[in-house]
Amino acid sequence: AREREETYRKVQPTLLNGERVQVMVNVGAVDDKELQCAAFVDGVGLFRTEFLYMDRQEIPDEEEQYRYYRRVFEVFAPAPVTVRTLDIGGDKEAPCLDLPKELNPFLGNRAVRLCFDHPDMFLTQLRAILRASAHGRLKLMFPMVGGIEDIRQAKALLERAKEQLQSRGEQWDQKMSVGVMIEIPSLALLADQVAKEVDFASIGTNDLTQYTLAVDRVNPVVSQYYRPFHPALMRLLRFAIQAFNDAGKQISVCGEMGSDPLAVTALLGMGLRTLSVGASSVAMVKELVCNLDLWQAEQCARDICVLTTEAEVKERLERLKSKP
Ligand code: PEP
Ligand code: MG
Repeated sequence: AREREETYRKVQPTLLNGERVQVMVNVGAVDDKELQCAAFVDGVGLFRTEFLYMDRQEIPDEEEQYRYYRRVFEVFAPAPVTVRTLDIGGDKEAPCLDLPKELNPFLGNRAVRLCFDHPDMFLTQLRAILRASAHGRLKLMFPMVGGIEDIRQAKALLERAKEQLQSRGEQWDQKMSVGVMIEIPSLALLADQVAKEVDFASIGTNDLTQYTLAVDRVNPVVSQYYRPFHPALMRLLRFAIQAFNDAGKQISVCGEMGSDPLAVTALLGMGLRTLSVGASSVAMVKELVCNLDLWQAEQCARDICVLTTEAEVKERLERLKSKP
């Protein structure tokens, strides 16, 4: 099994029809295991920058952030690094921000909302990311976006950060692209319109599941209601993937579903061609891609969107998997 993992880790993930699938890696605390993936993945599909803000009393300044991001760009260049701007709030705490307690933190002032509320902090991060991107290829991604308004506001701040750097004579990746996380149901339902506003999107299935099913992703008391294979989720995923494919814009999945074999089968069947997963799942996902019966997966993806319960969806996907 170890040998098999070694082999698949290094292959170019290609479907049996010859179509190439992009397999990227998620980077969190920037550990060695994540950085070592640079040799055999198509880049970083999700760089969770909030790790730099956690467990400390002071907000990191522009220089510290620049150095931190730059290392990841350098290691993965010339492959792209998808840098997600600060996603604090809900399950992700940062004592250095000293935020007031909220009754419903998952529905509260978090991620881009918090950044809009603290524009200087946001601009500092944007400048640090932009400067670091001079050492590689940048895909900038905004988290917890709920509508087109949020996208436009984030882009306006991005322009301001660029102007600030311009006046300082600083460089950044002129070919950078701008995208969003699709992890709030309102944005998934607007996917066709979102595709006109951005260069790419990545579906955050962890939060998309939480918000679609109204179930706290970290509360064990309600964990039996956290159902990523709920047919409602299948419909949302299929809709968003098709909307982006129709628009000719890249769409990926960077949540946990991207490393669940049953879910990967469903997602590829829905037309997804880019996945970003944890370092330890890269080989497994590539193996699945290389051996997938695409025709069967497409059939299955259509079927599961008209099924009634999560159990039925899983059973349908299991049936496909157990085929010789
Ligand atoms: C997600 O919500 O699926 C996601 C990838 O982001 P995070 O788990 O960091 O919220
Ligand atoms: Mg999320």
